[in-house]
Amino acid sequence: MLDAIIVGAGPVGCHVAAGLAGRGHQVLVIEEHDQIGLPARCTGLIGEQAFARFDLPGAATQRIVKSIRIYGPDGTWFHHRSERPLARVVSRPQLDAALAARAAAAGAGFLLGRKVLGAQIEPKAVALTLAGSEHPLRARSLVIATGARGNLTEQLGLGRLCGYLFGVQVETEVREVEEVEVYLGRELSPGSFAWVVPTIPGRARIGLSAYGHPRERLALFLRDRRLQLRLVGPVPPPTVAPIPLGTLPATVADRVLVVGEAAGQVKTTTGGGVYYGLLAAEIAAEVLGQALAAGNLGRASLARYEATWRQLLGREIEYGLRLRRLARRLDDATLAFFLNLANRDGIKYLVGRLASFDWHASLVAALLDGPLRRSAVAVSSLD
Ligand SMILES: Cc1cc2nc3c(=O)[nH]c(=O)nc-3n(C[C@H](O)[C@H](O)[C@H](O)COP(=O)(O)OP(=O)(O)OC[C@H]3O[C@@H](n4cnc5c(N)ncnc54)[C@H](O)[C@@H]3O)c2cc1C
Repeated sequence: MLDAIIVGAGPVGCHVAAGLAGRGHQVLVIEEHDQIGLPARCTGLIGEQAFARFDLPGAATQRIVKSIRIYGPDGTWFHHRSERPLARVVSRPQLDAALAARAAAAGAGFLLGRKVLGAQIEPKAVALTLAGSEHPLRARSLVIATGARGNLTEQLGLGRLCGYLFGVQVETEVREVEEVEVYLGRELSPGSFAWVVPTIPGRARIGLSAYGHPRERLALFLRDRRLQLRLVGPVPPPTVAPIPLGTLPATVADRVLVVGEAAGQVKTTTGGGVYYGLLAAEIAAEVLGQALAAGNLGRASLARYEATWRQLLGREIEYGLRLRRLARRLDDATLAFFLNLANRDGIKYLVGRLASFDWHASLVAALLDGPLRRSAVAVSSLD
């Protein structure tokens, strides 16, 4: 019998597969789409730290990011530039395909174009029902790496992700887009933001994350004068996908682990999930690998996975949610006030000192307990 079936050949599923296969376990990755990495719905911004940490394939890089410009609703901007690269813009199809190739080279098998419809935990195995097949497929363990969609976790009594944003995006031809641009404002997306991210020369991903009406908001953003002047040629239909805000109540059961976006392992400040998912994938492969070797796949034996990833990522996820709760309450005048303040107050200093592409809790805590708290008092006293 297979040691593990991994459902989902995204970056996270592939990384778990590589980790388990590299430890000598027999694993199969099942992916509902015929091609790995497609359809692509991601902006592809990955921090330099993630690249180095996971030795990610440089060939997927489309651009190195050293600066970011954040525009407020009144046109004010905040500019952050670093001497060293902050992040890369990657082609997700290329990144995912390279991670799948790595897993295959380690010995993992792949079954593409097959959707897993259901899962059942049995005394000595997990049984999976696949679309188009009458006979269940069995393995000693199951890793759910299905991204934010799907209901396998609910079927297995692990609950479901509750809070969501929607990420909506187009990729199109542009001119004069040379750095990452972020746009704030209630009309665009209350409590969230829009972006323009340059990829290869002459092209950019333009999108936003929103609590509701993502397509309508993107249409509005694309009509914005600041964008209209730089769009070249027709804009394709957008892709829309949910982004979880908050974690799954439980990410282990007997013989089962949930990893990546399916578990809510996402930077809640920005919605980026690749790095946190890969970090958790590494923990999952280590814990499950040991449990398989020991022949003990009970919930208690797998619980170290849950404890370890929550210790690593839990504070980040929670601080991101706190910042988002505050952001949802801000009106445009207050947002503009904060952005103006950011250029004058100690915030620029704090950002320069504490900003990291992937770890935000320290900066958020410093802002919430310092300048933002003081300015929130100042703003309310202006009312
Ligand atoms: C608009 C947008 C922009 C984003 N930008 C960024 C960014 O710049 N940087 C970043 O880090 N993150 C970004 N994200 C988030 C990022 O895309 C996800 O966090 C990341 O892809 C999660 O990886 P994963 O492997 O957990 O899941 P996925 O990449 O979603 O992979 C899951 C795979 O499982 C397959 N699957 C699902 N259900 C089944 C089933 N029942 N049977 C078989 N196969 C199944 C799916 O087809 C898919 O291939 C963005 C998201 C959106 C929506």
